[in-house]
Amino acid sequence: MPANACLTYADEEHFCPHCQSKLSCCTTPPFHVGDGLGWGSDAFFVCLNDDCRLFINGWKHVEEQYGQNASFRYMVLPGEKEGGPIMVGSKTAFTSTIDPAELKAKSSRYQKEQDSLAKLTTCVAEKNLEPVLFLITDEDSALEGRRKACELLAELGDIKCIDPIRNHKFRHTEIGQLAGLAIGNILKKTFQKECPHCAEIIKAQATTCKHCGK
Ligand SMILES: [Zn+2]
Ligand SMILES: [Zn+2]
Repeated sequence: MPANACLTYADEEHFCPHCQSKLSCCTTPPFHVGDGLGWGSDAFFVCLNDDCRLFINGWKHVEEQYGQNASFRYMVLPGEKEGGPIMVGSKTAFTSTIDPAELKAKSSRYQKEQDSLAKLTTCVAEKNLEPVLFLITDEDSALEGRRKACELLAELGDIKCIDPIRNHKFRHTEIGQLAGLAIGNILKKTFQKECPHCAEIIKAQATTCKHCGK
């Protein structure tokens, strides 16, 4: 499920009327209940408390009423106040829970990526290093945008980019290499280099480093 699709549920809180536990947000199971009605939702809230009265008493009830080995859990659909029992065949019927905090983090990262991509067209004119640096060092951003950011990094020519990039551990080596090349170009343009011993920036023609003395 795309992170944004279910972000609207992230702030919802529901509690089980049978045990007062906070309900967990789960992705909707791939089967339908009722008379051919779909779920109408990507996610729902369910009481996953194994000590819940509804769940514990449900086994006997279902056995007596329907002769099946199943029980109930309490569930609420997003946006609804009241829920109801849903039949489950085992304790682990709903394993794909969604962590709303994680969902939010994912979504705000995605939003930041989109904002940064939009700013790429004007970042050189505005001398704005921030979106370029975000894309280069955000390992979850799409590669195409990160490659573009590496190109713009050299155009920006801002040496403030060097430390954050050198301190970043690149998962995509290609991006690390492109960023490294861009840094090389920036230093060349400004007649500087990085000291091979202490990584401080020094004049290109220096023979001893003013920082570490080597
Ligand atoms: Zn409960
Ligand atoms: Zn040095």
